[in-house]
Amino acid sequence: MRCALTIAGSDSVGGAGIEADIKAMSSLDVHCCAAITAVTAQNTTAVESIYPLPLDMIQDQIETVLKDVDIKAVKTGMLYSAEIAELVADLLEDHDMPLIIDPVLVAGVGDNLAKSDLVKAIKKKLIPICELITPNRHEAEALSGIRINNEKDAIYACEIIGKESSSVLLKGGHMNGSTVVDYLYLSSGVTKLEYPRLETAGHGGGCTLSSFITANMAKSVDIVNSIYSAREMIQQAIAEQYVIGSGSKLVNPVVRSSGDKEKYAILDELDAASEHLIDMIPEELVPGGGMNIGYAKRNAAGPEDIAAIEGRLTFHNGLLRKNGKSKFGTADQLSYVILAAMKHNPKIRCNMNLQYSEDLVDLLEEVGLSVEYMDRKKNKKLLTGELVNATLTKLGYVPDVLVDKDKSTNEKLVRLFAEDPDSMLDKLEQFL
Ligand code: PLP
Repeated sequence: MRCALTIAGSDSVGGAGIEADIKAMSSLDVHCCAAITAVTAQNTTAVESIYPLPLDMIQDQIETVLKDVDIKAVKTGMLYSAEIAELVADLLEDHDMPLIIDPVLVAGVGDNLAKSDLVKAIKKKLIPICELITPNRHEAEALSGIRINNEKDAIYACEIIGKESSSVLLKGGHMNGSTVVDYLYLSSGVTKLEYPRLETAGHGGGCTLSSFITANMAKSVDIVNSIYSAREMIQQAIAEQYVIGSGSKLVNPVVRSSGDKEKYAILDELDAASEHLIDMIPEELVPGGGMNIGYAKRNAAGPEDIAAIEGRLTFHNGLLRKNGKSKFGTADQLSYVILAAMKHNPKIRCNMNLQYSEDLVDLLEEVGLSVEYMDRKKNKKLLTGELVNATLTKLGYVPDVLVDKDKSTNEKLVRLFAEDPDSMLDKLEQFL
């Protein structure tokens, strides 16, 4: 199990802070260790009181976890005071896992969550050792010392905050406009990320987003992809925010509910496998219309339960390129091929196609894969899925390879079957 550490405050109403961090990271299958900096008494309308923990207790929590657990990424949330921020920086500076800072200053309900000296300490001690800092407009103004009223200001603020070589994600939720524009400042420059404006993010939005990013980075996803995927998830978390009291709504960090877990695992596996395909598959094996790989949920009932790469993989300037990400319901024909295979062997849930050639078929047979042929001549009226089904019924098993030479459409494909994308890659490695 991948582990990350959050160093943050506890929120008694359970919408932000440590409580949100644990939910957000757990929903991405990352174990969240938690060092508490301060305990807050709050509900959805107000922060009633704050009790910062003694420095030695904060130090003990962090050291005790770090000396035992292989922490892959750390995030900080509410640090409350300069002393706590400095202590955290001292404890982390010799570790090389990525550090993500959510510079929490004010609660969603408007109450202060920081002493006045915190900003200076974050700038001086934490930003220089962090990988990414995720301020909102108000926090970016405090950290940069400038007012942010437009795009030019936003970019300038990012440059000031990130000048110590850290990356900055300036969140646009508190800025005006019909869409939300976030500014992502990396050493390579500033990228604008634009999203539809939903209702205002409620309590816990900042904590949840930075926890999604941290969990992704704990899984060794690079910083840009960690941010992009977290940003998409926070849209959903905001869309699913809920009411538990008379004040702010709570952002829902558990957008990947357990019912969806299998779906997300499938998408992740398919995305990972397709990255390998890019390195493995030579141009002559990619069909003219593109190549695809599909993977079905257990008990898949239709194409909506089967994921494939949207837009397929095609060759451009000598390089195989993915035209989209993995997605459910995006490849009907491939899906019906998989559904047909699953009827005969429910374990076979993955299929991909390659360009047919006699040489390829010889090679497949040489390495000992079972190769069978689809008989299109006698079954002209059948759709591909029905034809696969008829062929497999006749064969009585699902072979590794089904050769499909459809003269009428000029499409000549070799369809490979496997239990999952990993075993598909193993099969490919046998002959590539
Ligand atoms: N951390 C704690 C302990 C909090 O109570 C809050 C807000 O009340 C936050 C962090 C920041 O919350 P948000 O994610 O809404 O910015």
